[in-house]
Amino acid sequence: MNRFEEFTTRIVQQVGKKEGPVSPVMVNSASFGYGSSETGEGIFEGSIKKPLYARVGNPTSAQLEQILASMEGGIGAIAASSGMGATAMATLSLLKTGDEIISIGGLFGGTYSYFSETLTRFGITTHFFDVDELEAIEGAINTATKIIFLESVGNPNMRLPDIGKIADIAKTYGVAFMVDNTCTPLCIAPIALGADVVVYSTTKIITGNASALGGAVVYRAISEGEDKFKGERYRDIHPFIQKMGSMALIAVAKKRALRDLGMSANGFGSYLTMLGLETLPLRLDRIIQSVERVARALSDKGFVINHPCLPTHPHHERYRTQFAKGCGTLLTIDMGSKERAFEFLNRSKLITITANIGDSRTLGLHMASTIYRDFDEQTKEFLGITAGLIRISIGLESADAIIDDFTNAAKI
Ligand SMILES: *Cc1c(COP(=O)(O)O)cnc(C)c1O
Repeated sequence: MNRFEEFTTRIVQQVGKKEGPVSPVMVNSASFGYGSSETGEGIFEGSIKKPLYARVGNPTSAQLEQILASMEGGIGAIAASSGMGATAMATLSLLKTGDEIISIGGLFGGTYSYFSETLTRFGITTHFFDVDELEAIEGAINTATKIIFLESVGNPNMRLPDIGKIADIAKTYGVAFMVDNTCTPLCIAPIALGADVVVYSTTKIITGNASALGGAVVYRAISEGEDKFKGERYRDIHPFIQKMGSMALIAVAKKRALRDLGMSANGFGSYLTMLGLETLPLRLDRIIQSVERVARALSDKGFVINHPCLPTHPHHERYRTQFAKGCGTLLTIDMGSKERAFEFLNRSKLITITANIGDSRTLGLHMASTIYRDFDEQTKEFLGITAGLIRISIGLESADAIIDDFTNAAKI
């Protein structure tokens, strides 16, 4: 059975219940009564598994967390208020002043400014690399390096990393390896490829319909034997490993991020996210086929398209072998100038102009005037942002209708 078929079966079965309410039960209470002081003590101590307070866990979000953990092959997951909340949770729970991050590929604008501006203010340095600079990446690792962070597909530069190779480097040096898999759930299984932590913005294709802002972090289990987190580099979290064993990374994130920073998901958001999630395999399977058809057809008509399914793309071979299930909903079109890009977007009848991706509808946005407007020329060049660049996220509409609409919109 192919992966989309397998998860079509699994996820609908995990979201719905066979007894009682079929749709997930939505709990929106901020606090939970303990019934007795003894139970309260047990809940705080961890011996009684009942809700403590919504900042550190919500029963509806817990169901979402279980499904995402099982989808990724992780030991657990923590839902977050947004994708940026998830990135902040995954990173801040392992970092302190003086630490360093190696960031590879991408990069989503919010993550870039979080690394380059916000973390810099707290004395944490990030070194940025392109996906193929493997020697430079190895050379940049030192005793202060705590995280190697990777985006599974360059958004919007569409460059594809060799995730297995980068996982091997992280393993050799004993550095935590995090993958932002927002664009490629099910297409790529980062934990199976050697990632320790997977970050999602569930706002995008997982929910898929702009109904809920959300994020999630999925963690692998700490091994009983040797494990990179037992090395000197992570001595700060050794007490968690001693107490929590395989679940240590979840405990670290709950205490250091959810409890102290509060980027927590809410019940209603998690409910909507599960309704989206149950159709994720069907939607993504269809969209990936459409993306390829649209990219090829428009490229044949003379559009300047960036997508690795095209033989001219530098990572075409990697796309065919390592991204055989596709690389998500995105492609980019370079219209040559801001004026032509605006004209194209304004003329299209199908495109919704918005700063989102992974929706049921086809979305589009001119990059340089929006998300990347505050970036200097050098950074824009590094991130592949040209004056006429439009990012397109293909939706569920018929591929032929999208091709016709884009062709009409481009006629000047
Ligand atoms: C959107 C996005 C984020 C941030 O997610 P929000 O839910 O908007 O906070 C992070 N990474 C990638 C790749 C994204 O596309």
